[in-house]
Parts: sequence; structure tokens; C-alpha cells
Amino acid sequence: MKKFKVGVLGATGMVGQNYIRLLENHPWFDVVYLAASANSAGMKYSDAVAGRWVMSTLIPENIKDITVEDVANIEKAKNCDFVFSAFEMPDKKLIKETEEKYASMGIPVVSNASANRKIDDVPMLVPEINPDHLDIIKIQQKNHGWDQGEKHGFIVVKPNCSIQSYLTPIYALEQAGYPVVKIFVTTLQAVSGAGYPGVPSLDMIDNIVPYIGGEEEKTETEPLKILGKIINGKFVNKKDLKISATCTRVPVSDGHTAIVNIKFKNKIPNQEQIINIWKNFKSVPQKLDLPFAPIQPIIYKDEENRPQPKKDRDSGKGMAVTIGRLRKCNIFDYKFVALSHNTVRGAAGGGILNAELLVKKGHII
Ligand code: NAP
Repeated sequence: MKKFKVGVLGATGMVGQNYIRLLENHPWFDVVYLAASANSAGMKYSDAVAGRWVMSTLIPENIKDITVEDVANIEKAKNCDFVFSAFEMPDKKLIKETEEKYASMGIPVVSNASANRKIDDVPMLVPEINPDHLDIIKIQQKNHGWDQGEKHGFIVVKPNCSIQSYLTPIYALEQAGYPVVKIFVTTLQAVSGAGYPGVPSLDMIDNIVPYIGGEEEKTETEPLKILGKIINGKFVNKKDLKISATCTRVPVSDGHTAIVNIKFKNKIPNQEQIINIWKNFKSVPQKLDLPFAPIQPIIYKDEENRPQPKKDRDSGKGMAVTIGRLRKCNIFDYKFVALSHNTVRGAAGGGILNAELLVKKGHII
């Protein structure tokens, strides 16, 4: 199989560094292009991240000497087969327009940013849940004129970094015939979710911050698109699901925890049935044997004090969701605690899995 030439936009940041780390020795992808802000442009990658490389592994040898380009200099990326987008800008509209410019050059964009998530011809992909949403790509390309001759640009996004921890298990229940109509969720989100250097240490040590800008709105709306359908060439959100969210920042380095209460539509499974559904859940990435697909996407822990970020975030190489403490709820039907690695499954690893699915389905060529 040919190896794809890959670019990382925002390569110097928290998510970008995770892409560099996780893509080392990837069987299908070779990182050949790095870009960040104008401040880093022109520097060797190792110089651009000097003093702020936060990964526990060394910078890969083949990456150290690559010259970082400015994300805005789109022409420089023209040899990439596709790019991972993980750059930040204060103006989200500018992120949206920049990603569109890459797509218009015929370069597929596999994005972590929120800027294009609400656009109704852009798929918000969790490969275990909605791989069929990739059908919209040809409509998106037609809408923008991005599929001309040899060029095949498009944009695919991944959702907010905590969503898979509770949505994948809820989707597994729906697939087994037990749809959920109400979700009450409180997230305890790690500091790495705010990028680097992120939240000031004096705000975080010995503290919990009960607000993360924009996060609750994303938590309450993004699942509706992910579980929605393509109707007349557009995404239409799932209607019979209501979510209420409180999102907090806690002094944990990596791993977003979610405390979840759920109400079923009609039939209520028993506890053993729910755990069996989760333990046996497999989906398209597992069937296609994608390199980043966790063998078991949902892991249930019987111990009463799990999941814990420190002990469980690396399950399935950081790509699995770990659940525990399933029990009856006095107000809803059940409650449980879920955890996933925010910078792996929730960011770079999730982006890589998206790209693998896009290759396997013939969208990246
Ligand atoms: P970060 O650590 O702050 O990194 C930001 C990156 O964007 C750096 O590479 C930075 O380059 C670049 N950048 C800043 N201003 C720029 C500009 N004007 N033009 C071009 N590039 C610019 O942030 P992060 O946590 O990696 O997040 C990156 C993206 O992923 C964001 O959209 C975020 O919402 C999303 N995301 C993050 C997480 C997470 O867990 N952290 C999870 C899911 C999604 P310089 O180094 O040159 O400044």
C-alpha cells in the first residue's frame, strides 16, 4: 500500500505534538509538512518547540529538521495528500476560511477545530458511530466545486474532545434496541484540553473551575448531529434526544471524565444486559481492522472505584472508552462514569482514526 504524505497544521501545539508523537511509524502515513503561526514559521521544528515539547517521547528524528511553515501559506502544502488541522486562532471564522482554502486546493482536511462542525455539509465523524455520514463528502465537494479533475478536497471534522466517552456507549445501547432520550452529563475535563500553556497553574492547583467557554453548548448539540441523518443533501439533527451538560476543568493532566445519567425511550435493559452490550460492542473501525482502532472500543470496569484518569486513560492505547459505576438512578434510569483520553481519542488519535477510515473508504486517494 502506498504511504500518504501528510501535513500537520498547528504542529507545535498540544494536539499537533500528539499528532507528531502518534504518527511516528504509522503504517500508512508519513508526516512531510508542518505548519503553525507566523511566529514559528521559518524555524526548524525542534527549535520551534524548544522548551515547550510536552510529550514524554523524544521528537522523532525525521521531524526535527523540518522547517515549519505558516498555516496561511497554503501553497506550501500542495504536495500533501491530506492535512490534519489542529491550529488555533482567536477568530473562528478565519479557521473556517483557512480550512476551506486547503480543501479548495484539493487537499482533504481532517480537522480537530470546532470552526466547521456546525456546517450542514461537513461530517462530524466518530468512526464507531456514524461512518455512513461520509456519504455527504461528494455533496460537499459539489456544493463548493472542490472535486475537479485530479483534485479531491473536502473537510471532515471530529467532535469536541469529551463527547466520545459517553456518546459511544449510548450509541451502543441504541444499536442494541435501547434508545436513550435524555442525558444529564457533568464533565471533569483535564488541563491538556485547554492547549499549551493553557490554564494558569494558580487557577488550577487545589482548584476546580466550573466553566469552560463554549463547552456546554458543544456538549449539548454536537451529539445531535453525530446521531442525525443526511436528508436532502444536509445533516438533520436527531430530534428525540435532550442533553443537559455542566462542563468543569479539574487539575488532571490528561483524560476527560464524564458523569452521566440516562433515561431510555421505552424499554429499559437490566444492568447485566447493559454491561454485555458495552463489552461486546464492535463497529466499522474494528471490522476494517484500522491501525488506530481499539480492539475493544468500550471497556467496562467492575471495580467500584474506576474509571480513574491516571489508571484508565491509556486503555486501548488511549483510543478506548472506559466505563464503571453503572447503577440505577432515582431520577433517570441509570447512571455511570465514563472516561477517555482527550488528546488521544479526543484529539490526535481520533483524527488519525478518521483519516484511516477516509483512506479505507476511498475518500483520500
Ligand atoms: P495549542 O496548544 O494552543 O496550539 C495551538 C496551535 O495553533 C499552535 O501550533 C500554534 O502555533 C497555532 N496557532 C496559533 N495562532 C495561530 C495563527 N494565528 N495562525 C496559525 N496557527 C496558529 O492548542 P491545542 O490544544 O493544540 O488545540 C488546537 C486545536 O485543536 C484547537 O482548535 C482546539 O479547539 C482543538 N482541540 C484541542 C483538544 C485538546 O485536548 N487540547 C481536543 C480537541 C480539539 P505557534 O506555536 O506558532 O503559536
